[in-house]
Amino acid sequence: MIVHKFGGTSIGSADRMANVADIVVEQHSRTDGTPQGGTVVVVSAMSTVTNQLIAGAWAAAEGDDAAYRRTKAGLLEKHLGVVEALLADSPERVDVAGLVEDRLHELDRLYRSIAVLGEVTPRGLDTVASFGEQLSSNLLAAVLRGRGVRAEAISASELLVTDDQFGQATPLMDKTRERLQQRVKPLAERGVIPVITGYIGATEQGVTTTLGRGGSDFSAAIIGAGLDADEVWIWSDVDGILTADPNIVPEARTLSELSYSEAADLAYYGADVLHPKTIRPVTERGITLRIVNSYNRTHPGTLIVETPSPDRELLPAIISTTGLSLIAVGSHDDSWTLEMSARALQRLDEAGIYVPMFSQSFSEHNLNLVVRNRDQERCLSVLRREFIRPDRFSQGVPAAWGSPGMRAPFPGKAPTETYQVSDGTCSLGVKEEVATISVVGVPGWNETGIVSHAFAALGSHCTRVIAVAQAATEYSVSFCIPEEQVVDAVRFLHSELGLGRG
Ligand code: ASP
Ligand code: MG
Repeated sequence: MIVHKFGGTSIGSADRMANVADIVVEQHSRTDGTPQGGTVVVVSAMSTVTNQLIAGAWAAAEGDDAAYRRTKAGLLEKHLGVVEALLADSPERVDVAGLVEDRLHELDRLYRSIAVLGEVTPRGLDTVASFGEQLSSNLLAAVLRGRGVRAEAISASELLVTDDQFGQATPLMDKTRERLQQRVKPLAERGVIPVITGYIGATEQGVTTTLGRGGSDFSAAIIGAGLDADEVWIWSDVDGILTADPNIVPEARTLSELSYSEAADLAYYGADVLHPKTIRPVTERGITLRIVNSYNRTHPGTLIVETPSPDRELLPAIISTTGLSLIAVGSHDDSWTLEMSARALQRLDEAGIYVPMFSQSFSEHNLNLVVRNRDQERCLSVLRREFIRPDRFSQGVPAAWGSPGMRAPFPGKAPTETYQVSDGTCSLGVKEEVATISVVGVPGWNETGIVSHAFAALGSHCTRVIAVAQAATEYSVSFCIPEEQVVDAVRFLHSELGLGRG
């Protein structure tokens, strides 16, 4: 049995969804009737949909009715567009369009109740966020049936039993396995293709949860493990895990074979093609994982196994992440303490805001935090709530931005806020848009140390390094740099480290 997982960009439009249907039909016919037979599909929401759903919920909580109505209308148009493009001649057309309308009507009701309450709970947010996968799985299943294969959309809220950590739920493996064995295995064994929603689950009481952003890869691994699948294939839009982002470095090379722990390392450093939690469930059951390209179906991609072949070529990888903001919170005097830094990190963690990198500066008396742009607003409000409580103002809210130690914010972003509080000044603001670059080496690849190599390369290239983080191993290091320098820096590093040579 093979589990195929398709990400949001792979099904981002009607054309892309048709392409995915081709892939599924082809893969299904390749293995149907063989010992590896049985095809299970796991899908993400269509690209940008989850972001829009969540933004709609925040807009509703803030009372911006027009914004959430626009969200709902946009989603309706996007999904009905797929129905029109791919199911126009199908007998299912009316039913599927009706299902899309019904679901989005339900979303509208949810948004309205959030607007009435004026707030959105993590539980409510998970319910809202789950709509994307519910829609995409139903569309894809109908498109597959239109191609003459048997397919059935199944919501993972019936299958993945999780705890109630909304926004970051953990699956309860034994219960999940039981349900998968009962509900999904017999279907797949009969040659029906279950099309299961990624990203979501439900508590034992049936309340919808999500596994965390980008969690569909994790869902596929859980489903693969619970079904004792032979392989899990993660279909994305690049040729596997590469030595660098191929959109930046066209000559980047695919790492053809990795061990579970090497892949886990790369995923942990932010290799976008693989969610870091994906590895554990497949490792426990020794399931082969493949990262393949839905835009380039004949490319073998990256194979991830327990014991890779000894003669594979092992190369370091450069992992870059953009769309990040550098946020600084601190004081202009010495009132900022380590305890305050600890508290800031704790509050952000509780709010589910991922901080891929941070640095505590002694001379600046502040904490620099790297967060995703989409979390910027919420990060600011969490920190404001924690450190700038109204009862501590001695001069009310306002003050200047661009104050000493703070750079002017980039256009359109919230200015740095400076507050007089009873025991000093507290400032909070977005410093700039940043990117992170991690160089993840492999033991023995370059005895002189990849870290000093990387430092020297960035130095000679005059990259402005804002912060550095190095793991305990000598062979990986992460840099935070201004976003506008990332393309040049990654290209330069890739060639300096000799990775461009075939
Ligand atoms: N749709 C979810 C997200 O955007 C899960 C995923 O794509 O993996 O985070
Ligand atoms: Mg992903």
